[in-house]
Amino acid sequence: MASSHRSRLEAARRRLAEEGLEGMLLAPGPDLRYLTGFDVYAGERLVALLLPREKEPLFLVPEMNVSQAAANEAGIAAVRGWSDAEGYCEPLGAACRELGWTEGRLAADDEMRAAFLLDWQSVCPEAAFCRASRVMQALRIRKGEEELARLRRAGQVADGVIAAAQAACAVGSSEAEVARRVTAAMQDLEPECRVYGCIAASGPNSALPHHETGARVLEAGDVVILDYGCVLDGYHSDITLTVSLGPADAEVRRVHEVVWEAQQRALEAIRPGVAAEAVDGAARAVIAAAGYGDSFIHRTGHGIGLQVHEPPYLVAGNAAPLEAGMTFSVEPGIYLPGRFGVRLEVIAAVTDNGAELLNLPSPREIYEVGEQE
Ligand code: ZN
Ligand code: ZN
Ligand code: ZN
Repeated sequence: MASSHRSRLEAARRRLAEEGLEGMLLAPGPDLRYLTGFDVYAGERLVALLLPREKEPLFLVPEMNVSQAAANEAGIAAVRGWSDAEGYCEPLGAACRELGWTEGRLAADDEMRAAFLLDWQSVCPEAAFCRASRVMQALRIRKGEEELARLRRAGQVADGVIAAAQAACAVGSSEAEVARRVTAAMQDLEPECRVYGCIAASGPNSALPHHETGARVLEAGDVVILDYGCVLDGYHSDITLTVSLGPADAEVRRVHEVVWEAQQRALEAIRPGVAAEAVDGAARAVIAAAGYGDSFIHRTGHGIGLQVHEPPYLVAGNAAPLEAGMTFSVEPGIYLPGRFGVRLEVIAAVTDNGAELLNLPSPREIYEVGEQE
């Protein structure tokens, strides 16, 4: 990956020039990892890459992290340590003066602690600041082959536990127990992966798109939404299944079919040049035509990569055209408060002429588990 990190760094510098920025400061997180392969715990000690438009980039890190930063994959040789006793403000101020950053326009990591930005602003009082996503989004939004391969592998882990996830939905289990089983199944299947979450929303809780998994015990007849994923080699998966405990009633089956249909129309709409909002519109039209328009209360999808939610967003108002290499979720849902909800989620990658699914297709008919009537 060394050469690809180097070329990403050069692309970031070209973007800085295009945007008329003096430079960019990145803290541990997806942007830093993307450019340099370097990632450490983002604690209260400043770990920063100072990337100027033209001069040599510089890492400013706690003394104890110097050798880790020096092993970055972008070949950045300048690594400066600061000691706990002196703190980082003085060294940061000195570095900014050397780089000529005391004035002009600078980009700040979207993900860094507000405290670091405030301290940085105080040592560069004449400078103007903007978000680093202004530079980085254009680089990260289209995935390269290596990134697509990682996303596929993460998706395969999520797919690989679909049967285990259904089996975990048992009458008498709590939502938290179901989530624990799904998590364990992913870890068993791929010990290298890190599970970032599992939403288990049962019965009336399934009508809450981002329900906080809790103590509710599953009952016969419940609809259960399972939304989970993992991180493998830095890249995320994200999938949603909807399960019925016992035979689903007619309305549950109908709602599931409408959501499935909406997802298919959205997937069929994907190709380069199509506006992101048109994919949202394709799903929404199906749900509205079935009479559930007011019950689809979130956007159709979010980009995915080094972050589980990142651009592009499939949402009304996003007229940006899709491009080959973009990856995002397609996850329409219908939520009937106090009763039940259905959501189906898969990840898609835009190809030269359509979409590649990075998950198994969602089932047309709802999964029914257990014998109980
Ligand atoms: Zn979500
Ligand atoms: Zn999800
Ligand atoms: Zn999602």
